[in-house]
Amino acid sequence: MLALLGLSFFAGFTALLCVADDLNDKADQHSVLLLDKAFASREESMRFHLSDNAEWGEAYDNLHLTLNLDWAWRNQNLGESLFQTFGYEGVFVIGPDGRTRYSVLNGRLQRQSIEAWLGQDSLKRLTDLLRQNDGNALSRLLVAGGQVALVGAAWITPGGDRSVDSVEDAHSVMIFIDRLTPAKLENMGDEYGIKKLTYAASQDIHLYRVPTMGGTVMLKWQSDNPGGALLTWLLPLLVLMMCGTFFTAFMLMRNALRKARHSDVSTFLLEQSQQALTASEQRFRDVAETITDWIWEADAQLCFTWISGRFPAVTGYHSQAWLGQPLHRFLLDDIDLLPRLAQHDETGEPVILSRCRYRSAQQHIRFCNLTLRPVMLAHGKRGYRGTATDVTLEVEAEARVKYLSQFDELTGLPNRAQMNACLAGKLNGTLHGDCPLAVIMIDLDKFKPVNDLYGHAAGDSVLHDVSARFNACLNEAGMTARLGGDEFIMIVFDANSREEIEELCRRIIAQINLPFAINGGEVFIGASLGVALAPEDADNPGDLLRYADIALYKAKNAGRNNWVFFQRDMGEKIVQRREMERELREAIQTDQLRLAWQPRYDVRSARVTAVEALVRWHHAQHGILMPDQFIPLAEETGLISVLSDWVLHRACADARRDLRDLAVSVNLSAVEFRDKGLPKRIRTALELTGLPSHRLEIEVTENAMLQDPDTTLEVMLAIKALGVKFLIDDFGTGYASLSYLHTFPFDGIKIDKSFIFPLNDSSQAHQIVENMVGLGKAYSLTITAEGVETARQMELLQKLECDALQGYYIGKPQPLEEIVAAYCISSEAV
Ligand code: C2E
Ligand code: CA
Ligand code: CA
Repeated sequence: MLALLGLSFFAGFTALLCVADDLNDKADQHSVLLLDKAFASREESMRFHLSDNAEWGEAYDNLHLTLNLDWAWRNQNLGESLFQTFGYEGVFVIGPDGRTRYSVLNGRLQRQSIEAWLGQDSLKRLTDLLRQNDGNALSRLLVAGGQVALVGAAWITPGGDRSVDSVEDAHSVMIFIDRLTPAKLENMGDEYGIKKLTYAASQDIHLYRVPTMGGTVMLKWQSDNPGGALLTWLLPLLVLMMCGTFFTAFMLMRNALRKARHSDVSTFLLEQSQQALTASEQRFRDVAETITDWIWEADAQLCFTWISGRFPAVTGYHSQAWLGQPLHRFLLDDIDLLPRLAQHDETGEPVILSRCRYRSAQQHIRFCNLTLRPVMLAHGKRGYRGTATDVTLEVEAEARVKYLSQFDELTGLPNRAQMNACLAGKLNGTLHGDCPLAVIMIDLDKFKPVNDLYGHAAGDSVLHDVSARFNACLNEAGMTARLGGDEFIMIVFDANSREEIEELCRRIIAQINLPFAINGGEVFIGASLGVALAPEDADNPGDLLRYADIALYKAKNAGRNNWVFFQRDMGEKIVQRREMERELREAIQTDQLRLAWQPRYDVRSARVTAVEALVRWHHAQHGILMPDQFIPLAEETGLISVLSDWVLHRACADARRDLRDLAVSVNLSAVEFRDKGLPKRIRTALELTGLPSHRLEIEVTENAMLQDPDTTLEVMLAIKALGVKFLIDDFGTGYASLSYLHTFPFDGIKIDKSFIFPLNDSSQAHQIVENMVGLGKAYSLTITAEGVETARQMELLQKLECDALQGYYIGKPQPLEEIVAAYCISSEAV
């Protein structure tokens, strides 16, 4: 564009210069014409003056025939007036003999020959020219003294004067000389509007050539220069316009460039943000496809407008089938969602609906947790967005575990926990003297051989039938529970008379004595029963159960297959316990207790990383007593805290001294968590022994959470603050509500061995353990399986993704030295 502009301005300038030049040329040509005219007119007037003076009778008489000076000079016929009026510097009369007869120079009468003025040659040429012109006046320009002079000559003739006689062959010549002096030249120019006409050197401009007889003479003048005037006005204007145009063009260009650059930057930024948007969309899609949840969007009426790709995989439906359908149709429960959401619309907080039921495409009832959030959708419409997490497995596992916590898996009877709760409820509640209650403790006779001879499956089937017969006997007048193994307990409500109870006992024994069908054959077993009555014998569950147990003991001793009612004198067993309590107190003081250590195998690192301390009582008379034989007593008598202190100190000290970096598990009884001093006792043990707190783990059964949960939580949190870990022992056998998994600060669970034993041959057992593992993982707990006795179990449990394994297959409880030798001496041994 600039080049184009430049080109047009160049053309403009050139045109202007051409026009100016042309104007000047034209003006000069005009001046030359004028000069031609000026010279012609000067010559003309000289010829006229000559004719006037020479063709005249008197002049012929007085100048040619004779020379009469008076006539010529004094009478002023050919005197000074020619100089004064016409500026003729020289006036000559040449006689026929060629000599100068009369001459007036510069207006004065002076004698001088014409040759001195013109030179011989010029005079001759002039007279020759005159003769050719028949003596008529003529004029010529010639150069004299470096200046141009106009010379005119004519014969002196009588003219029309007849009175004068003319001599034809001899002629006098009158000559006028007009010198073109610089002043005269300037005057002549001025008359024709030509300024400063003057002689010039040949290299000057504006030259006018004057042709003379002796060559050419150059004249110059000051040109009018109309082109120059044009340039003086137009050129600055044009330059100004050019500058203005270029400046404007430059500004426009700069502006355009800036805008272009700006738009480049905007385009770049737009591209960047578009790329970022694409990446974030891609990321969202990837996440939406990989997470197990499905994500949805709905309009203001909660009708689905978009459902993520996970939906078909989780629910079995095509997403298309549900688009446009309302969310509440998807759910089975009748939830009035829209009003509930309306409350949240202002705050923008999400609504969370737990465990909503829905039916999968396969017609299974499933559960999901829904999160709904009011959002502003595209086009400014209100709507909802949310996620759905399928929690079916968790819900089923929880239900299963809940069931297991209250019922015996094998027989479907209530377990000890439920029985305890029921008994406690009955005794606390409506119990009066006239509303009695009986507790019958039952132990099967000759059951062990059935197990040994026919196998566990047969044993299980017998137990199953036994339960059914018990229930039939009781006829809904009470509750039968299985305590484990072949021990059962029956609680009979409204046991009005001893006879009634006796009748029941008889019925029970009779039923049990009937044959059981096994593998096409029959087996026979029996039952011993111990009965305690409330409120007659005792009014608290602990005593009642103990008394029933004592009575059962009696019944067994008395030859089995019969029943015995508790009597006060059976108290000898109680006395026995008292004795044992004293002995236990002594045992703690006199160091009869020992610790056995059982290794715990960590699946991920494939080595033993922890040991559990299990207490043993080396009794002087009875030999080694196992914890089951004295811990309940210690709990009842309150000796448990002294015993625990001993175990804690010994376990921590041994671990600190000999067990390298192994973690150490110590079992604490549930009752101890009601003692607010427990955290301090544990801290003291850690401080005195120097064991780092992170190596200590406390194992406690679910039952700890049952009584006084507030205190228990407070105590646990205080212990947790020390850096000690918590494991739930015998998981699955207690009967606390599973909600404690949320509330209490547990780090792991130990699945009870009763779930592990049947793992080999029961797919149901497999399912249960799988559920428990799933549940544990759902709460981010480490999972230990107890009671691993075979390689097969170990293999299965590893497949089920247990974190740790414990049991005889890994290692039995052993003395400290053996543990140290096996796991702490060299790393190869581990
Ligand atoms: P627990 O905490 O569940 O301990 C595991 C019990 O299972 C131990 O019995 C152990 O010998 C046994 N066991 C380990 N592996 C297997 C296996 O593969 N198969 C079989 N059949 N049994 C296995 P133990 O030593 O008789 O302890 C019984 C219970 O006494 C313990 O159960 C624990 O609750 C309690 N206990 C032990 N020491 C203490 C203690 O110092 N204080 C308190 N309060 N209770 C303790
Ligand atoms: Ca334990
Ligand atoms: Ca256990």
